[in-house]
Amino acid sequence: MKYIKGEANMRKKILLLIIVLVTIYLSSCSKLENLPYMNFGTEPYENVDYAMGTVISQRIYSNNAEEISKKVMDKIRQIEEDMTINKPGGEINRLNDSAGRDFVKLSEDTLYVLEKAKEFSKISNGAFDVTVGPIVKEWGVFTDNPSVPSMERLQDLLNLVNYEDIIIDKNMPGAKLQKNGQLVDLGGIAKGFAADEAIDIYKQHNVKSAFINIGGNIVLLGDKPDGSLWKVGVRNPRGPEGSYIGIISAKDKAIVSSGDYQRYFEKDGIRYHHIIDPRTGYPSDSGLIGTTIVSELSIDADALSTATFVLGLEKGMDLIEKIEGVEAIFITRDKKVYITGGLVNSFEFEDDSNEYEYVKKR
Ligand code: AMP
Ligand code: MG
Repeated sequence: MKYIKGEANMRKKILLLIIVLVTIYLSSCSKLENLPYMNFGTEPYENVDYAMGTVISQRIYSNNAEEISKKVMDKIRQIEEDMTINKPGGEINRLNDSAGRDFVKLSEDTLYVLEKAKEFSKISNGAFDVTVGPIVKEWGVFTDNPSVPSMERLQDLLNLVNYEDIIIDKNMPGAKLQKNGQLVDLGGIAKGFAADEAIDIYKQHNVKSAFINIGGNIVLLGDKPDGSLWKVGVRNPRGPEGSYIGIISAKDKAIVSSGDYQRYFEKDGIRYHHIIDPRTGYPSDSGLIGTTIVSELSIDADALSTATFVLGLEKGMDLIEKIEGVEAIFITRDKKVYITGGLVNSFEFEDDSNEYEYVKKR
């Protein structure tokens, strides 16, 4: 009996061993699904560079992250060359130089951004107007010698601001500006496009987890390798760099901010910033000091952050609520923070300065 009992015990032990081995094998099989993650190495690759007049930082989880980050920078520099008006050469400069005369051939990228810019100019009722170039140039906020133009001069230049004067020829493909002196300025949308293109490059290289920040245009690819959400701070518009009024937790989202703190000069105690109200020719004075848009595409978020900054709280909220899949955070001059309904669970108000009031819904 003892012997038989011992044999039964032995069988039990062998069975247990088999179960343990099978369990280990199966759990290792289920990990196979996560192989791309397993390949990563959890150490991120970080790269900080400069292009499009701003700092660009990338964090990529991948074996060949360095090579991928270089491809991204090459693409961003190409976009800059095509679309900038701050350096000579490039397609948009050619378009502007030929204003009132000829059609100019444009690459697929430039035409796409121009069409998107026109579309957002229309849906924002001209609060975003990509032909605001002559006014932006006159203020010179980006130059070493900014100055306050005369009201007469601004009135003259305002005659040149009208996005409907961009004539697009899809077959060519190309475009023309109707009036002599008109200038397209893609400064409010091109960085958003560049960030979307970066995400495309990450995806082509099978990257599952990365982020890019092009001067406040942030795009998150996937979540973090440990499965947690990315956390993105919303800048306190009146605090020093690195101070926040709250945190957005998200994955696979573009988060883009505009504000009067990003570029400005001061004269006689007045702040003249870089976002122009195309109705007045003056820096926008809508009562907002910061806008943040959360959406799928960074190009949309970029155009909308600039547009809503000009529209102000009420009209800005109305516009965002009309567009599906887009959320916003608005910060007013009287230091109130408003969010759209879709952000209730992903935005955490956290104001170290104790100066802001969280109103949530308007
Ligand atoms: P952002 O930093 O994205 O809000 O864009 C601001 C930049 O867009 C400025 O530096 C100008 O180059 C350009 N810009 C300024 N005002 C407008 C406007 N009302 N509509 C479109 N672009 C603008
Ligand atoms: Mg913008």
